[in-house]
Amino acid sequence: MKLIFERSRPGHGCDMLPANDVPTLQPAAEYTRQTAPNLPEITEGEISRHYSELERNSRGVNNGFYPLGSCTMKYNPKINDEMAALPGFAELHPLQPPHTVQGALQVMQMAEELLDEITGMDCMTFQPAAGAHGEYTGIAMIKAYHKKRGEGKTRTKMLVPDAAHGTNPASAAMNGYTVVTIPSAPDGGVDVEALRAAAGADTAGLMLTNPNTLGLFEKNICEITQIVHDAGGLNYYDGANLNAIMGIVRPGDMGFDVIHLNLHKTFSTPHGGGGPGSGAVGCKTILAPFLPRPVVAQEGGTLVLSNDIPDSIGKVRSFYGNFLITLRALCYVLTLGQQGIPAAATGAVLNANYLMRKLATPAEIAYNRTCMHEFVLSMKTLKKETGVSALDLAKGLLDYGIHPPTMYFPLIVEEALMFEPTETESIETLAEAAEAFRALVALAHQNPEALHSAPHSTPVRRPDEVGAARNPVLKYDFAR
Ligand SMILES: *Cc1c(COP(=O)(O)O)cnc(C)c1O
Repeated sequence: MKLIFERSRPGHGCDMLPANDVPTLQPAAEYTRQTAPNLPEITEGEISRHYSELERNSRGVNNGFYPLGSCTMKYNPKINDEMAALPGFAELHPLQPPHTVQGALQVMQMAEELLDEITGMDCMTFQPAAGAHGEYTGIAMIKAYHKKRGEGKTRTKMLVPDAAHGTNPASAAMNGYTVVTIPSAPDGGVDVEALRAAAGADTAGLMLTNPNTLGLFEKNICEITQIVHDAGGLNYYDGANLNAIMGIVRPGDMGFDVIHLNLHKTFSTPHGGGGPGSGAVGCKTILAPFLPRPVVAQEGGTLVLSNDIPDSIGKVRSFYGNFLITLRALCYVLTLGQQGIPAAATGAVLNANYLMRKLATPAEIAYNRTCMHEFVLSMKTLKKETGVSALDLAKGLLDYGIHPPTMYFPLIVEEALMFEPTETESIETLAEAAEAFRALVALAHQNPEALHSAPHSTPVRRPDEVGAARNPVLKYDFAR
């Protein structure tokens, strides 16, 4: 329908055609439906009220402080969405011939160059659709590398520290590797001696989440990557939370061979409700022959999508990934620039340390060191003394208009609460949040029941989260 309308507009050329010559996308009669679809009939006002009510019933970053650790939406400037909505980008078709999409290919090439510079890598693919998908891709490249060298059968183990993100062991296992868990040392870093003992001729590589899920920068990082390289393995960097280090240090300079970025976390794309995402994978030249295809390449004066990579692991997703997320990432990097990128990282780290120190008295810091962009508290003493759990406290924060932090993660900390304030919050907001937290801890001692039944002020109180995940109600009941 849209096609007919646009083509029949004056000045479009096609308006010269007689009406029945206008090409349509309508399928042949045998494929068209015989009865009208049973669509709900409601007025524009009703649908508008419906969405406004959904908004009122939700808590988002527009309503208040949102310190959800690890997967926080960071800075998503509106300008990036405006760029992604430009018709020249938004209306491209993935099967258009390359000479008609030179601008889009240039976006991919520029984003690759800038993100390579930020990560210290040599090449990058934007095909993977999420962070975990990027991990799968990067580990598949490591596997292809060992296979090419005739060591595919002997290097069967992937070393994964216990403070890694949960998707790391899953990605290694999906690639057929046996996961060897490396324990954490008492300071929250990798136990280097345990790593040394585990590394050997059967090691395919190591997957390191840095900062790890405790929000800590790995202290012995160069020694760790050296141990793995000496054993003949390769080093994988989970860079989902690159916002803590971007523009300050580069994984490529610390002995890593391959990295994934969560462009939808660090490099600005709103990603609530499970998507969309982009798990860009960067690698050193030694892994470039195994990148998913196609890759953007220069041919004469033009850019092309080249499939000429005989050892490629193949495609991991249709077409070129979520292109508009690549575009937003490019806008983000160009807007912040050489000064803004490290300033965002230092701001995120400063805010996290400020809030961590403010909360240190009423709670216990799980690992009492300078943290990166996030930190983990343990509420185990409060629970023992008052019966009030990390969950109760998180629910209580909602009554102060604060979104709960991440709860019960990482698994290696009892009664864990993980906060990530991000660099965009003011010192006043952080101080208010600390006051709210302090008041809730005091309340836990005076009237624990009030917290067991929190929140008291939200439209929905304690939903059955497991039930919602297992038996989701996917249809809106208009009769309700
Ligand atoms: C979010 C996250 C992932 C997984 O990313 P998805 O896009 O959710 O698949 C992996 N590692 C770390 C450290 C993360 O924070």
